[in-house]
Amino acid sequence: MTQHAPGASSAADASGDVAVVEGVEVDTRHWIGGRRVSSATTFDDLSPIDESVIARVHAGGADEVNLAVTAARAAFPAWAALPVAERSAILRRVADGVEARVEELSRVETRDNGSLIRSHRRGVMPRVAMNFRFFADYAEEQLGHPDMEVRGHRERVTYDPAGVVAIITPWNAPLMLATWRIGPALAAGNTVVLKPPEWAPLTASLLADIMAEAGVPDGVFNVVQGLGADAGAPLTAHPGLSRLAFTGSVPTASLVAAAAARNVVPLSFELGGKSPYVVFGDADLDLAVDLAVEQFDNAGPGCLKAARMLVHSSLVEEFTERVVAKASRLTQGDPRDDDTDVAALIHRRQFDQMVGFVERAKADGARVLLGGGPNADLGGLYFQPTIIVDAPPGSEILTEEVFGPITTIESFDSEEEAVALANDTRFGLAATLATGNPDRAERVSAALDAGTVWVNCFFVRDLGAPFGGNGRSGIGREGGIWSFDFYTDIKNSVFSPTGWKE
Ligand code: NAD
Repeated sequence: MTQHAPGASSAADASGDVAVVEGVEVDTRHWIGGRRVSSATTFDDLSPIDESVIARVHAGGADEVNLAVTAARAAFPAWAALPVAERSAILRRVADGVEARVEELSRVETRDNGSLIRSHRRGVMPRVAMNFRFFADYAEEQLGHPDMEVRGHRERVTYDPAGVVAIITPWNAPLMLATWRIGPALAAGNTVVLKPPEWAPLTASLLADIMAEAGVPDGVFNVVQGLGADAGAPLTAHPGLSRLAFTGSVPTASLVAAAAARNVVPLSFELGGKSPYVVFGDADLDLAVDLAVEQFDNAGPGCLKAARMLVHSSLVEEFTERVVAKASRLTQGDPRDDDTDVAALIHRRQFDQMVGFVERAKADGARVLLGGGPNADLGGLYFQPTIIVDAPPGSEILTEEVFGPITTIESFDSEEEAVALANDTRFGLAATLATGNPDRAERVSAALDAGTVWVNCFFVRDLGAPFGGNGRSGIGREGGIWSFDFYTDIKNSVFSPTGWKE
């Protein structure tokens, strides 16, 4: 495997309220009611690239959460009352602000969560801007439905803003996953309190700067930094919320659901996955191999990524050989280098989890065909892309979410067996198939138990399409009109044809 040694720590001034990360000033305090708010304590924010402390971030708790929800509630009536076109115009300015700062946002996100700078520059950050621009446009098109005539009565459906939306996000794509909720929530007239991930908290603070510059009124968007148990938990339990959108793991989701249940707050959950990638004997093998190796991009973690490759027995040997050969040519190293394909894992805890998964898989009788451990040349948190075969049915590596650069390969003999294996999971986020047969593509995509099915492609998703997971992978759908279904109180007003004075 080609390697790039991680560079020396970038200029990171971890003192005071402002950290300088990759040359970009990042305020490490909360953003509440249009001003920066401090806490008495901070937590260390480490970079996966070299495990150095790049910022000391203010650690919020129940007080800061209360302040933020109160500010968001105070700002709600005026923001909700703005004509949609005015709100949308402000959100388009937020999109402009993101576009103007793609380079800074990319540099900070890469340093903070270790994902590839090349994908931030080309894809992720432009998509962050789209999360605002798309929903600004979409709100103008969709929020005023034409009246319906029902048995002589006129019925008007209105999408009323719900109130304060709490948004809690994970570390693997912090700004992208936050804004994909913030965009529609604000466009629909809600106000927002965001709790970013403690392992990658910095771009949320830059977003607050962009919001302020774009003229988003004070209190409409708020950020409370902090640890999950200290800042996340009080936010989920706050009685002032009208909606709660959570992206993260299943165990945390259970806690969040229990807390929100006390106030009967509607939830949208985007959770883990154990997504299958099914390769049929009639697939274009070059394409199938490319899609397989794409799963190792970054350092592997991605909720949608194919964790289980299921390959027809006629092809499995050649497919495995080619995937191992191609994956072993990937370049692992510093994600700030444009030609790096695979970076480091986010945190020592996640790294140790990967080591544990491989050890237990081997103890269960599985074989490691590629990787299987730390990249000895790079050290730190660099874990090699790993391919595991011969894992016994029902074993941990085939059933639990790994969320790292580890994938398994299994084989099947018939379409029925492939579907049964693919659906043999508690999760149901996504599934990918490679086949040259359009009829089979229709049949199998219909039979798969997943929120998204990709056929001969991966990761293609329009913001107007629904997104979410079945089973343990989530609750609800967002995207397009489904976002507005969640972030609004939908009202039907029925006007009788009789009883009018004039
Ligand atoms: P996590 O559940 O540990 O943390 C997610 C967020 O919840 C963080 O901001 C954390 O601070 C907060 N949190 C922790 N404890 C809390 C509590 N008691 N109350 C409220 N908030 C709390 O998840 P993670 O390790 O950051 O992220 C990885 C997980 O996210 C994986 O399971 C992955 O599949 C999932 N994920 C899902 C999607 C999707 O779209 N379905 C996208 C990305 C990641």
